[in-house]
Amino acid sequence: MNRRTFLAAGGGLALSSTLARRSRAAAVDQPALLGGKPVHKGGWPKWPQWSESWEPEIIEVFRSGEWCGYGGSGKVGEFETAYAKLLGAKRCVTTASGTTALITALHVMGVDAGDEVIISPFTFIATYNVVLMHKALPVFADTDPATLTMDPASIESRITERTRAIVPVHIYGMPCDMDPINAIAKKHNLAVIEDACQAWLADYKGRKCGTLGDLGCFSFQNSKHIPVGDGGAITGNSDELMDRCQAFHNCGRAFGTFKGNGCFSRGTNFRMNNYQAALLRQEIDKLVSDTKRRQENADYLTAGLKEIPGIQPVRLPENSRAVWHLYAFRYDASQFHGLPRHKFMRALAAESIPCGGGYGEQYYDGLLDEAIASRGFKRLFPAERLKAYRDSFQELKGNKLVCETTVGVFNTLLLAERSDMDHIIEAVRKIHAHAAALASA
Ligand SMILES: *Cc1c(COP(=O)(O)O)cnc(C)c1O
Repeated sequence: MNRRTFLAAGGGLALSSTLARRSRAAAVDQPALLGGKPVHKGGWPKWPQWSESWEPEIIEVFRSGEWCGYGGSGKVGEFETAYAKLLGAKRCVTTASGTTALITALHVMGVDAGDEVIISPFTFIATYNVVLMHKALPVFADTDPATLTMDPASIESRITERTRAIVPVHIYGMPCDMDPINAIAKKHNLAVIEDACQAWLADYKGRKCGTLGDLGCFSFQNSKHIPVGDGGAITGNSDELMDRCQAFHNCGRAFGTFKGNGCFSRGTNFRMNNYQAALLRQEIDKLVSDTKRRQENADYLTAGLKEIPGIQPVRLPENSRAVWHLYAFRYDASQFHGLPRHKFMRALAAESIPCGGGYGEQYYDGLLDEAIASRGFKRLFPAERLKAYRDSFQELKGNKLVCETTVGVFNTLLLAERSDMDHIIEAVRKIHAHAAALASA
């Protein structure tokens, strides 16, 4: 006799109300994936967000006819000054994108064909591509599973006589541990170019990301925290380096202390235009207030999620603040009755908590095979170096683990209300409580 026939048969009237109450509770509490109600209702903030009050200045640019920034003038110059001040950097040069900011910075730091650059593998693919654009080899440091950023202890063994630079990536807006990275760079006379394309206003020991190495690179692409469609910037404290960035991104025209060879030096057009700069300058206050809100909500989430077995929030370097382009944690399936990560994420999405698994082991995706099989790379690197390089991917044990076990909650969720953060915590708790049923479903 199942429960329904037992009740229909009038069995145990005293019992029936208790059972009904329990089954009601169970329906509310059931994972949405198994037919229960989603924890969260009403959607999440959309991105990008803007204010009508920003429109007149864009129209002003339109009516002025001065649409091109010509490297540092007009609205472009105004934004560069404001952004440098915001970060506490001496100078800023805007670019067409984060990718072109990185290409410029690598050139200015002397990365050339046949060189090697040590980068973090757990990043957006642009970090790989900018090195390849210079016909240099992106050599991967390992990822620290506790921080999801470059493990400083894995850098030195990867340095060769061809290594020119290190590119730490402050992924998801989490500062890398820059002190040991800078110390290694200094010891081996290497440049440090920060990929801060997800780390606007992230803080490391009282200084902003993007001002901690030789040059810092930012992105203002549409999905980023200060969006303008496409755009980017380089920040730095050396006039000499910044003059070179200014020259390179403006067709190689001499600038400031950088006279080039008297006429044009090598360069390209990576300029930002005045419409973009007018919008970006007006977005600065919103970036500051959004960042504060994301940080407060992220702290609250961390406090709640760390109590759930199998959820490991990231560890940040001492005395640092992340800005959370993605709110990431590591997922331990063994604490969830073996529920695989993809099923955990499906269950979380069913609770109306959008999430993703972050980056995969992209070095196996064919991009690097294509590069090292190319005529240029074969000409520039000995065959045995390219073979050893390809074989070395399997040493990236920390990164493999990170790629397999990270779960990220999209950053716009952090702009919602505190009660919405409770929904995220509650959803993970619910999945944990029903992990066995979800695993066998
Ligand atoms: C977005 C991003 C880039 C590239 O910036 P674009 O503006 O899209 O060219 C580079 N690195 C990282 C880590 C990024 O997130």
